[in-house]
Amino acid sequence: SKMVYYFGKTKTDGNAKQRELLGGKGANLADMTSIGLPVPPGFTCTTECCDQYYKQGRKLPKGLMDQVHKAVKLLEKENGKKFGSNTDPLLMSVRSGAAQSMPGMMDTVLNLGLNDQAVVGLANATGNERFAYDSYRRLLNMYGDVVMGVDHHAFEAEFDKIKAEQGVDLDTDVDTAGLIKLCGLYKKVIKKHTGQNFPQDPMKQLEMGITAVFSSWMVPRAIRYRQINEMTGLLGTAVNVQTMVYGNMGDDCGTGVAFTRNPSTGANKFYGEFLVNSQGEDVVAGIRTPLPCESMPKWKAPNNKTIGKQMHAELMKMKGILEKHYKDVQDIEFTIERGKLFMLQTRNGKRTGAAAVKIACDMVKEKLITEKTAVKRIPANDLTQLLLPSFDPKAKKSASPLTVGLPASPGASFGALAFTAEEAVERTHAGERVLLVRQETSPEDVDGMHSADGILTSTGGMTSHAAVVARGWGKCCVAGAGEIQIDAKAGKIKVAGKTYGRKDVLSIDGTTGEVFAGEMDTVSPKLSGDFATVMKWADKYRKLAVRTNADSPADSKRARDFGAEGIGLCRTEHMFFEGDRITAMREMILAETEGDRKKALKKLLPYQRKDFVGIFTAMKGLPVTVRLLDPPLHEFVPHDAKGQKEVAKALGISPAKVKARVAMLHEANPMLGHRGCRLSITYPEILTMQVTAIVEAAIACKKKRVEAKPEIMIPLVGTKAELALLRAKAEETIADVLAAKKFKGKLDITIGTMIEIPRAALTADEVAEEADFFSFGTNDLTQMTFGYSRDDVNSFLPDYIGHEILEKDPFQSLDTTGVGQLVAMGVAKGRSTKKKLKVGICGEHGGDPASIQFCHDTGLDYVSCSPFRVPIARLAAAQAAL
Ligand code: PEP
Ligand code: MG
Repeated sequence: SKMVYYFGKTKTDGNAKQRELLGGKGANLADMTSIGLPVPPGFTCTTECCDQYYKQGRKLPKGLMDQVHKAVKLLEKENGKKFGSNTDPLLMSVRSGAAQSMPGMMDTVLNLGLNDQAVVGLANATGNERFAYDSYRRLLNMYGDVVMGVDHHAFEAEFDKIKAEQGVDLDTDVDTAGLIKLCGLYKKVIKKHTGQNFPQDPMKQLEMGITAVFSSWMVPRAIRYRQINEMTGLLGTAVNVQTMVYGNMGDDCGTGVAFTRNPSTGANKFYGEFLVNSQGEDVVAGIRTPLPCESMPKWKAPNNKTIGKQMHAELMKMKGILEKHYKDVQDIEFTIERGKLFMLQTRNGKRTGAAAVKIACDMVKEKLITEKTAVKRIPANDLTQLLLPSFDPKAKKSASPLTVGLPASPGASFGALAFTAEEAVERTHAGERVLLVRQETSPEDVDGMHSADGILTSTGGMTSHAAVVARGWGKCCVAGAGEIQIDAKAGKIKVAGKTYGRKDVLSIDGTTGEVFAGEMDTVSPKLSGDFATVMKWADKYRKLAVRTNADSPADSKRARDFGAEGIGLCRTEHMFFEGDRITAMREMILAETEGDRKKALKKLLPYQRKDFVGIFTAMKGLPVTVRLLDPPLHEFVPHDAKGQKEVAKALGISPAKVKARVAMLHEANPMLGHRGCRLSITYPEILTMQVTAIVEAAIACKKKRVEAKPEIMIPLVGTKAELALLRAKAEETIADVLAAKKFKGKLDITIGTMIEIPRAALTADEVAEEADFFSFGTNDLTQMTFGYSRDDVNSFLPDYIGHEILEKDPFQSLDTTGVGQLVAMGVAKGRSTKKKLKVGICGEHGGDPASIQFCHDTGLDYVSCSPFRVPIARLAAAQAAL
């Protein structure tokens, strides 16, 4: 089978559509070659080879190296140079590239083909000895590290010694003699750490390099990155073998990385950095601080060499070509070799939520993309970033920053200082809010970066590892704050003449790069401009209605501002915990007779009524689904002696009585216990009180000319009979209240149920006879379908995800294959009884884009989610419809 895809002037086997097979990088290298862009020729070993490599116990698939040899021959012909030649050698790089990008997570080796003879040949052929040995020391270092497993620091230590000997700070200031010496030392390092010599055979180097890249697919950091980013179902990485071009030939050369637009803000301005006289990952690794591409036309080395205006103009031309071709922002890697620009990579640029929105709107205006494409392209979850608070401008005015770094990833973040990735993980788990403070981050740190509230680095540019990864996640990051001196061992930083340690809190503004002492106040975001435009487009295309889960007037109002079209779940139990209410609630629970219970419920009634008036008013005539009390009663009473004593005192009864009652309420499986509609079956007076409050509140609103549209929802129903009984009770209560209040107007109150017990879904045709609407409670439905306790699932869920038994947490994203069948069945059976039955979802899944797609496909009428997720749900619903 075909395992190697060539790209070059001779021929190009692959194309842009073959991402799965060639990886994103390989597919785009083929594509760029096809449209005539200056790409050094090379070939891609497919992701299928990687899959085979692991299936055969980490062995390269048979026949791969034969195909590689053929491709190398072709490359030699095209370049007019021989791989392994001692006079004018052809050098090659190997780089990883999976179907989805994983920046910096896997391995790269440059300058393959050099050895003790070839380096002399390269020096002679180019007349540039320093460059030849700079290339060789890079190969020895990368090959030693990536292929032979020698710790990178062992090489660093030798380099530092040479720099000290020569009295210089920068790698570029080390002279030729120093680099020659360094190559000798590096070979000794390899021998010392592995007992083996650096292989002089170029073909062996290439084979081992390819093997190493395949192996890097399974290094822990790469696995972790895929977990965090929920990347599943990939075959592996491809390996791209490519002719080397040289950015390290002198001060008229360099390499750079750039985005065709600003990936933080979305501004339509070329946004890149370059490093003079450098190669490969130097820019990203933050070894020297790169220069912005704008400075290219003016920049001059002390020796008067320059990269020049022309190269800058060509880069700008490249921006236009790439954006027109890919119709999206591109993230590129380029090398300039003595007046020639080469493209080494292009991919769609990762961007913040704010940038995604701005870029999509701008590109519609520029007629690069359509409105529909714009809607489809913005990752719905990333809107969260736009809804997050920023620092209060007033608070900022009165504070002066300790220092200003680069605004690497927008947002406002504060936390106590953590100095290593592990520390950040541990302290976050322990419930602390931390900032990860590092000189620079590396792919090893992703776990800690993910845990931390924000990231602060002292070196590295806008395209450094920390910046790129943080932007991808929408996490606040300030990079390259060079005035900060970090002593990670001591757990201290020094800045602006002050010292801060683990207990101290700093605030960082990722939009401006400012760093402040202490915790700064934040303000809510504005929902206008491009954001509003995108929401308008989303509303135009979506079919699902979007409601919210809210149980206070404040949350209701916020959700309406975010565009909620009603409340899909008002959890009334939340109202019982506040202030004096909890005392009345406890009195009700502890009551021994129905009479006493009713007396206590009477005290609760006005509270409930007031809450409902507040919520109905905030929702201004939009429907409000009120769910009757759901949790088991023991949740409302204290379980410790001290608490029980206080309750006893407040209610004027003996502590022993409280203790006895609490013991009676104890359940081994409370989630499967005396809760939901079961409470109202045992204590119908609870239902009566709640329904009374709802109806009285609706009447009170009507009298104030506030439209109120309550919908009564009965939880945890498993049989038609349960619902029938409680429905009758509710209808009776409604009639009683209307009569008592002598209300003559129209009150249209519907009564429906949640479908959250598998039996209810299985018998939904029967249940529908008693229900005006269904709302899927997928939290409980997931619990009961899997048989996983909602409360205790985290004791084993991480192992299940780790072993890929489950792709993702089924409590966050609906298990469409299993639980989804019950949902689909519930909808179909329900509507077989009532054709127009209104059906929604109010479990956590109602705010999850993948689950929303399923809800759309299954024909639900609405989804309901927490207020902050409403915009996400609106966008996801549109994406589901397109
Ligand atoms: C559900 O079970 O999905 C639901 C919305 O109800 P709760 O989470 O309150 O049990
Ligand atoms: Mg539930």
